[in-house]
Amino acid sequence: MPNDSSLTYAPATLAIRTGHNRSPEGEHSEPIFASSSYVFKNAAEAAARFSGEQPGNVYSRFTNPTVQIFEQRLAALEGGEACIATASGMSAILAVCLGLLQHGAHIVASQAIFGTTNILFNKYLTRFGITNTQVNLSDYTAWEAAIKPETRLLFLETPSNPLTEMVDIKRIATIAHAHNCLLVVDNCFCTPALQRPLTLGADLVVHSATKYLDGQGRCMGGAVVGDKRRVGEEIYGVLRTTGPTMSPFNAWVFLKGLETLNIRMQAHSSQALTLAHWLEQQSVVQQVFYPGLESHPQHYLVGTQQQDGGGILSFKVKGGQGTAWTVIDATKMLSITANLGDVKTTITHPATTTHGRLTPQERAVAGIDEGLIRIAVGLEAIQDIQRDLEYGLKQIS
Ligand SMILES: *Cc1c(COP(=O)(O)O)cnc(C)c1O
Repeated sequence: MPNDSSLTYAPATLAIRTGHNRSPEGEHSEPIFASSSYVFKNAAEAAARFSGEQPGNVYSRFTNPTVQIFEQRLAALEGGEACIATASGMSAILAVCLGLLQHGAHIVASQAIFGTTNILFNKYLTRFGITNTQVNLSDYTAWEAAIKPETRLLFLETPSNPLTEMVDIKRIATIAHAHNCLLVVDNCFCTPALQRPLTLGADLVVHSATKYLDGQGRCMGGAVVGDKRRVGEEIYGVLRTTGPTMSPFNAWVFLKGLETLNIRMQAHSSQALTLAHWLEQQSVVQQVFYPGLESHPQHYLVGTQQQDGGGILSFKVKGGQGTAWTVIDATKMLSITANLGDVKTTITHPATTTHGRLTPQERAVAGIDEGLIRIAVGLEAIQDIQRDLEYGLKQIS
């Protein structure tokens, strides 16, 4: 990136060029620094680096040049001052909690958060005296009513998994700040290519880089983006001390992923919209959930809050689990797996996989019908994806 602060660049450019200062070798692609530690000129420099008096590399648990390129690039894309990369999306969420909460603190979260985040909040954080209340994502009154004097964080995902419910981030941020709370948004489904929560008032963004940032289902990773003090000091301190570090190889894969993020998110969105319209026309499909459809209750947020519908949709077939499994098992090409954000289309039965650990009653509250199928629409030819689903839909019609 030219070192001229008078120039500003569009996100598509930042995604390709931010963060890389070429080494004396003149490499064009970002190098992978496979080194656990770094050598100092003398004992005084070692002391200055360790104390933080002098900036620079020390030890790859908390300073690795390849990981730092990824951190700078994602920070630029999200519009944040600082970014910390982590070993997975879950370690990013854990680092936020460890960095910002203490015994007695309370979280308000949306009901439709990622299943493992739910377990982290309900099973593990509660052991350390951190409690939570879960509310319906788009019920603004419920968010406000759930806030207690000890509430520190509001946590949400928009669109939600798998029903793609959306919420107005600005409105939730206003509620959070009126009560001295921070708003954390898990921006995994949209990525900064479609939605930038920090510019809408959120305080922190968390990512599972495993999904769209990689984009081809290869590596595990995560990140936290936000301001210098919270992310660059408090959450960085947690990472430095507890060690869920992103590997430099994975950081390099994510860098390559970021370079094509913009164009991929556009393609995923356009494929998903085509598939959603087609599914709506199938007689055995009862309902289709996709932000880009006019029938979606928060469709107005597409084009304003989030630039496009994204790559994930779900639909309900008549007849419950048996018919849903028939549709899934009849596919020949789609991958039966719970991962998402890949160029390969994946198909999932949420009620028995991602949401299988919930009780039937909890699933009913969350709206996870037994006949619900989630598709993370990939980049294969759309007619091939449609034909694959048609095999199953024909069997149940
Ligand atoms: C996958 C996912 C996570 C967890 O990320 P990992 O990289 O699997 O640890 C968190 N939030 C959302 C929305 C996810 O899809």
